[in-house]
Amino acid sequence: MNMKPEIVETVKSIATDEKVKEALAFLEADNDATTNEQIELTGIEAPTFEEWTRGKVYQEKLRSLGIEDIQVDEVGNVFGIRKGAGNGPSLVLCAHLDTVFPAGTDVQAKWVDGKVYAPGISDDGRGLAVVLTILRALNHAGIETKGDLIVGATVGEEGLGDLHGVKHLFSTRNDIDGFISVEPGAPERITYLGTGSKRYSVTYKGPGGHSFGSFGTANPIHALGRAIAGISVLETPADPKTTYNVGVISGGTSVNTISETAKMIIDLRSNSEEELANLEAKVLEILQQAAVDENTFRGKSDEVTVEIEQVGDRPAGSQSPDADIVQASMAAVAALGFEPVLGSASSTDSNVPINLGVPAVTLNGGGEAGGIHTLNEYYDPTNAHFGPQTILLTVLALLGYGETAEPVLPKRQAEVAQK
Ligand SMILES: [Zn+2]
Repeated sequence: MNMKPEIVETVKSIATDEKVKEALAFLEADNDATTNEQIELTGIEAPTFEEWTRGKVYQEKLRSLGIEDIQVDEVGNVFGIRKGAGNGPSLVLCAHLDTVFPAGTDVQAKWVDGKVYAPGISDDGRGLAVVLTILRALNHAGIETKGDLIVGATVGEEGLGDLHGVKHLFSTRNDIDGFISVEPGAPERITYLGTGSKRYSVTYKGPGGHSFGSFGTANPIHALGRAIAGISVLETPADPKTTYNVGVISGGTSVNTISETAKMIIDLRSNSEEELANLEAKVLEILQQAAVDENTFRGKSDEVTVEIEQVGDRPAGSQSPDADIVQASMAAVAALGFEPVLGSASSTDSNVPINLGVPAVTLNGGGEAGGIHTLNEYYDPTNAHFGPQTILLTVLALLGYGETAEPVLPKRQAEVAQK
């Protein structure tokens, strides 16, 4: 694995600074308090599109940690600023407020054998708590960065939230030079590629009728079946990984009724924008053709129709593993004695900045996470402090710190001006 020696040296010098050592030790000592705060935040329901209550609590926590200019924007993102000494880049550090669990889910924590069970405890309860413990550690050790830390939480990261929080963030501000989002998982793993996805809700409609009496009427469920048959044999590349899935189907009222509607939701993904567009074009063609084929087979012209609604659009994005933000993250992992692992692409808040050309990584909060997105989601806090320690070192390297280190992260504005 290629690591840039100058960045490795920078991070090493940061990690051996007295104040930084104090901050790293604080993160270890704060592990239990962090778990408790994670449990507290997880216990406030926050389904996608209903993050408001949790967001208000998060805003208060940021305020109590001295974060300035905290704003809750129109969509519910909560961000403030921890000012640096000046003249440095601006880096976002955030986690997401929302969970995949609907309102009414029991989100109260239960301890079993050293693990905390609660839906959302890891994803992204861990990320939210990690951001706060890092702020406490910086404050505790009296660390001033060179650049500004834009710190907070996004909405709408999960499912049909479609990354709308982070999309809104980047559509409304242009002062962001780099971006770190925190998700659950092993601290040595770095996500620097974004999987793009397109999602469609597809509905076939027809006149319907009695299964026997009206036999010969074009049938929406049969059209849906034709479409699925067509989609299910599409060939897609293994690299860049490109996939499809018909994830939900519904329709029909009884066994002896020709249904009036049939519906499905389709998920298309790729690590390449181009392959995603290719796949999308083929699928859209199949969806239309299935209606035509069903009508033609029954000798009808337009009895069955299809309505196609796009319900998801997450941009794909890639950047080089040599990008400074990736290198700083790897150097931070190595400085703590771990072997950095560049993770395969996934779909997180970082997709949006990566797609826009803003350096971004998703880093992991540490501890052991499991059962993510299920009612059995859990978190094991054993030695979880390696997560926030890695992220703290990455933040300090990117923003620059004291006499020890110039910012690794370039200011984007300056870069643009030079070109
Ligand atoms: Zn997440």
